[in-house]
Amino acid sequence: MANTFTKPRGTIDMIGAQAEKYQKLVQTLNEKAHLYGVSPIITPMFEENKLFHRGVGETTDIVTKETFNLESKGGHEYTLRPEFTAGIMRAVIENKLYASPHMPLKLYYSGSIFRYERPQTGRYREPHQWGIEFLDEHLDEVSTVEVLLLMVSCLKAIGIENPILKINTLGSLTSRIAYKSALVEYFVPFIDSMCADCKARLETNPLRILDCKVEEDKKIASNAPIIRDYLTDEDKQEFEGILNKLQELGIEYEIDDHLVRGLDYYTGIVFEVYEKSHLNLGALGGGGKYDGLSKALGGPNLEGIGFSFGLDRLLLSLNDEDKEEPIDVMLYVQDDVSLMLKLAEELRKKNISTLIPHVGKSLKSALKMADGKRIKRFVFKKDDFYVVKDMEKNEQKECRYENILNNLSLGGK
Ligand code: AMP
Repeated sequence: MANTFTKPRGTIDMIGAQAEKYQKLVQTLNEKAHLYGVSPIITPMFEENKLFHRGVGETTDIVTKETFNLESKGGHEYTLRPEFTAGIMRAVIENKLYASPHMPLKLYYSGSIFRYERPQTGRYREPHQWGIEFLDEHLDEVSTVEVLLLMVSCLKAIGIENPILKINTLGSLTSRIAYKSALVEYFVPFIDSMCADCKARLETNPLRILDCKVEEDKKIASNAPIIRDYLTDEDKQEFEGILNKLQELGIEYEIDDHLVRGLDYYTGIVFEVYEKSHLNLGALGGGGKYDGLSKALGGPNLEGIGFSFGLDRLLLSLNDEDKEEPIDVMLYVQDDVSLMLKLAEELRKKNISTLIPHVGKSLKSALKMADGKRIKRFVFKKDDFYVVKDMEKNEQKECRYENILNNLSLGGK
């Protein structure tokens, strides 16, 4: 055989039942978003390189190590989106969606993102995400609570009944300045023994040390000061207000003092969700509140809160079977091509899914295909009659062409 091709490392093919599951998952999430008054947005898969540097942050792994960069023939530098929020904010500013009739903006999105990561189960280079962003001049605690309610109810809708919701706050700038200097003071005596990334983070963004995945560094970080001890009274009140509302609504959560998240733009509440029996996959989704992003991208002062799910991880954490949707009818074509094509179109108009195998396939192999493809009725010509075979009951009836539809007996259809 000539040279064959394999998919790029860290990417996946979704085929048949798996692709169907992915589409249904997105559909269920879209429907949930609509129920909460959230509208769809679709933005480009690539944006100007600088958008992500300014938006996601110069000190994040996502921007410093993980982007896929492109150069156009015209010499423009582009980057395949490593996340959605910066592109959405760009679209909001460019299309002036922040003007009053549109506000508050509530948007949902889905699609591929691209990160040059070390691939493993549940970690890809082209992961798929679904998420939401709420944007307004000021977002109060009701918006935060609504976002968390939507997140939990999305998980329930797809069958994840008891997600583990971990919450922390990064506080306002004032709280964070105090916290950062406490972190620096704590880490300085250990820093020589820590990884190169942590050494750099001590200078650029000490909070990110709390997110280090190196075991030795994790141990050191486990005793680091916690942000709650450095919150201003106002930040403390806001955080407690949100937690009280969640309790009133019966939303269970855990406080994780070291949850910081990978992107630079977060301020205030941050959160992640996990599934008990699939902790090995890492977070199924995460998000938080941010307020400097719009300004950093040349827009007005806007606050945002959002989250994104990793769709690949959601699919891996659902334990249901990989079963493809059945197809109602397979029409086996012999010398009656035009008649069968006509019938197929009539059936499809009645919402009866109909598949025609390629002409010339033997009857035996078409029947075998029907079995594998989960076909409900198999129709073929025998002498002057047509045979309608019920594949589920393994029974068959003979009839004239005009009566095929009546003999399909497909319940309500
Ligand atoms: P983030 O944009 O980093 O906040 O990620 C949000 C969610 O997307 C995570 O909780 C994961 O479920 C998923 N995710 C992020 N990166 C990857 C990846 N490389 N492979 C698979 N899923 C990912």
